[in-house]
Amino acid sequence: MIRLIDVQQEYDNGTKALKGVSLRIDDGDFVFLVGPSGSGKSTIIKLITAEVPPSAGRIMVNGYNLNTIRPSQVAHMRRTLGVIFQDFRLIEKKTVRENLTFAMKAVGASNRAIRERIPYVLKLVGLEKKGDRYPTEISGGEQQRVAIARALVNNPSMIIADEPTGNLDPQRSLEIMMLLERINELGTTMMVVTHERELVDQFGKRVIAIENGRVISDETGGYYRHDETI
Ligand code: ADP
Repeated sequence: MIRLIDVQQEYDNGTKALKGVSLRIDDGDFVFLVGPSGSGKSTIIKLITAEVPPSAGRIMVNGYNLNTIRPSQVAHMRRTLGVIFQDFRLIEKKTVRENLTFAMKAVGASNRAIRERIPYVLKLVGLEKKGDRYPTEISGGEQQRVAIARALVNNPSMIIADEPTGNLDPQRSLEIMMLLERINELGTTMMVVTHERELVDQFGKRVIAIENGRVISDETGGYYRHDETI
């Protein structure tokens, strides 16, 4: 579970990126986080992943209190999260399978766990036949599937996807979003940051809209639904 209580974030140069954000994402939820560029979405992600400490307010992430977390616990907290980016961030010199192996070895997984887990996640993302390819030998949509597999490989309780379809065409974007929906149905909490209004509208999920450092709406179904009722 993620909980932000009246979180404020002021960067060193005085920019007030968040001006009192409260939100709660329960285990198993699927949430879109939307809002214009500069509204504070990335700042929320950076706070959840403990890249920056909040200027004020309280943050809980999967049982960790980020206000009091010890530095030695931060890596453990981060293992409860899988993060996916717009630009995939795969290691180009490693094959698909090696990318996944690397992520598992980084957290000390056993060879046996690696042998068992990687075929499962490759199948889940529909890439069971492409494990030996290099990232440059597969399409953008497939690269994003590898990134999703890598985010899942250590079995996080939540995935945070930061503009996961920003580099993909509409058909590939829809497929990636459907894959994230399926992963959520299998039990992983999902937070998807996106600008893609049409995609968001198709899924009818909870949408948290941020504007100018504040939550301006938090409702299930559609994008900025709250604007339409004014
Ligand atoms: P979004 O992800 O919605 O585009 P951000 O969270 O990146 O928004 O930015 C929110 C505000 O904070 C913007 O005004 C941005 O310019 C500012 N900001 C973001 N990162 C920094 C930083 N490291 N230092 C100073 N200001 C920042």
